[in-house]
Amino acid sequence: MKILEKYTFGVGDRFTRQGKAQLEALIAAKKLGADIIPVWNKSNREHVTIHTHPDSLRAEADAAVAALGWKDSYYVDADHIGLKTVDNFLAASDFYTLDVADFSGKPADEKSVKAFMEANKKFVGKLTIPGIDHPLEITEKTILEAAGKFLLAIEEAGKIYRHVEEKKGKGNFVTEVSIDETDLPQSPTEMLFILSAIAKEGIPAQTVAPKFTGRFNKGVDYVGDVVQFEKEFNEDLCVLAFAVKEFGLPANLKLSVHSGSDKFSIYGPINRAIKKHNAGLHLKTAGTTWLEEIIGLACAGGEGLVIAKEVYRKAYERFDELCAPYAAVIDIKKDALPVPAEVDAWDEKRYAQTLRHVQSNPLYNLNFRQLVHVGYKVAAELGERYYRALDDNEKVVAQNVPENLLERHIKRVFI
Ligand SMILES: [Zn+2]
Repeated sequence: MKILEKYTFGVGDRFTRQGKAQLEALIAAKKLGADIIPVWNKSNREHVTIHTHPDSLRAEADAAVAALGWKDSYYVDADHIGLKTVDNFLAASDFYTLDVADFSGKPADEKSVKAFMEANKKFVGKLTIPGIDHPLEITEKTILEAAGKFLLAIEEAGKIYRHVEEKKGKGNFVTEVSIDETDLPQSPTEMLFILSAIAKEGIPAQTVAPKFTGRFNKGVDYVGDVVQFEKEFNEDLCVLAFAVKEFGLPANLKLSVHSGSDKFSIYGPINRAIKKHNAGLHLKTAGTTWLEEIIGLACAGGEGLVIAKEVYRKAYERFDELCAPYAAVIDIKKDALPVPAEVDAWDEKRYAQTLRHVQSNPLYNLNFRQLVHVGYKVAAELGERYYRALDDNEKVVAQNVPENLLERHIKRVFI
């Protein structure tokens, strides 16, 4: 079986030009003593928006690995796929993120709810989980409610898993189950029952992506109760360790943090928790590299800066259209956005400092950053012109990408 390593880092790269720059960050981490394995992830939604095929991501990953002589393993993630979208990814991917959030909150059939109740009845009462300082209070109602929220979703994950297994062969790929794109966070108790259902479906999940408490907005810092997050994150780790033994799930099962880039205020708590519990972690990022691309283009000046400004102007003008699909993961105060005419007058530095995620810089504007984040569709529409600008300014862009991943992410989370 393909066994996913302890620390893995999801490097999404929307325009498939930064593979080498991203890998450089992991090579630098390795020199610092941290073995972190890259997973190139790109969702079906991103492929559709940018008009790319999953094979192009595989080609990018293979090329980056060959060019830099990376000897460790690496993966290509079919990110957020479902039964309807997975087939395009069968050739390219060896990592599958089964997204079943759309099926959560919908009832499973009576027979399977009954079987789920039977299988989990033994937990009713006060359940002690090693590492959690208070017992979990579990009633039949807790189990029924968990079934109501997650059972159908995990059954769907089973269908997707078996479909991939049939095509790729057992053990030839890594499976992640994601239920992060839902409205409500999942508690550690719910995590226990999610894992029970995953085991019952026979899914050898090596990572699971819950919705944690708080807001995980794209490309900006965490918004929420950091103390509560730390408590739940630690408890989730204890539940995972318990579930591995109790349900016979893969021993390396670990948490996956989606929209994981730029969540600076919880990186300390995450770092402490994985060390304390000797736990693995998958941190998934994507848009942060796209934002560094735009910062790089802005810094390059000339046509690069023109494009960066154009992306902002069009994103501003098409605010509703671009923001709608990301409603659950952005919070933009429209009146805190500069008008495009103002931005047009900016020089390279001003643009870069407004966009770059350096919270101590008074020019940094998180509303501006989130809007540019969803503006990758505009860049995709520029087509060849955008790719040409990236190629022409490769050096400047390639400086920003690894620095962002290493200094602002990897060092804080893993080291
Ligand atoms: Zn996700």
